[in-house]
Amino acid sequence: MKLKDKVAVITGAASGIGYEMARTFLAEGAKVAIADLGQHRADAAVEKLDPSGHNTIGVDMNVTDEKAVEKGMKTVVDKFGKIDILISNAGVQIVNPIDEFKFSDWQKLLSIHLDGAFLTTREALKYMYKQGTGGSVIYMGSVHSKLASPLKAPYVTAKHGLIGLCKAVAKEGAKHGVRANVICPGFVRTPLVDKQIPEQAKELGISEEKVVSDVMLKDTVDGEFTTTQDVAQTALFFASFPSNALTGQSVVVSHGWYMQ
Ligand code: NAD
Repeated sequence: MKLKDKVAVITGAASGIGYEMARTFLAEGAKVAIADLGQHRADAAVEKLDPSGHNTIGVDMNVTDEKAVEKGMKTVVDKFGKIDILISNAGVQIVNPIDEFKFSDWQKLLSIHLDGAFLTTREALKYMYKQGTGGSVIYMGSVHSKLASPLKAPYVTAKHGLIGLCKAVAKEGAKHGVRANVICPGFVRTPLVDKQIPEQAKELGISEEKVVSDVMLKDTVDGEFTTTQDVAQTALFFASFPSNALTGQSVVVSHGWYMQ
């Protein structure tokens, strides 16, 4: 068990990649807080992952709401006594060409990805610093932390921004034994991607099959989607890494799409 008695807060863990990371961390002995939009949504994931509720807690946390983040983190510490790992994973996608992008959609996307990462980091660091036992902060970036694709201006901007935040946290956190790293997945079949396929087909005027083969997987080495488990294993590697040697870094897990 690589995470025995560690406490992890995972945002956006009611679905997709976050859910799989929660499942994997529980199997490795961690206690996991499922932080997501609405108590009901978070509790439904707890019910599936850990019906006894001994090792898991559902937390109603809109990551863009300062008070909700403060309260949610306190709820986790009240239940499990500490926070060792934060995975800032909650995210959405909105696709549109820049000249047609609504300002409100731009603001919404940046807020969920960047304000959410900042607020959850700030609260988690307060506990990690006070505990004095170090910690691991993991951001869910994307291949779009490294390159751009059409129709995704705010997403690309936000995902690049997370790399900057990660480096700043790595610098400040080091003396407290807190590490920060970014995972940059390629396309993973989750509700976030399933929603985009018809939207991109419409915008680009091509079939949904072509969106998958010619847009999403075109530059992979083998035409395959990355899986939620691929990402969860990368998160486990970062979370269980024992020293400050691995900090301020970003790892691309994408079937070779974008080689650094
Ligand atoms: P998903 O839609 O399956 O899950 C996202 C979760 O985030 C949902 O449960 C949703 O309720 C939650 N969420 C949304 N807004 C929130 C908010 N304001 N506060 C709290 N929770 C909120 O999506 P996913 O594909 O699992 O995406 C997870 C992360 O991985 C995102 O940051 C996404 O950008 C990133 N990512 C996904 C892919 C992919 O191909 N699926 C690739 C690279 C990066």
